[in-house]
Amino acid sequence: MSLETERRRSIELNRIEAALDRIAEGDYGYCLLCGDDIAVKRLEFDPTATTCISCARETEHKN
Ligand SMILES: [Zn+2]
Repeated sequence: MSLETERRRSIELNRIEAALDRIAEGDYGYCLLCGDDIAVKRLEFDPTATTCISCARETEHKN
């Protein structure tokens, strides 16, 4: 396995662990930035999403 694949996998694992933490704390499914519900469709697409679609778009804009 290449280093890049290894690196991506560990980032992915961190995201999943963070998502599991939020489920345990009852914070799962809420945007970390604005507190709104994250759309179910978005969570189906990326279960580790931490922001709603509009905050995600704004973040992308800044980057
Ligand atoms: Zn948001």
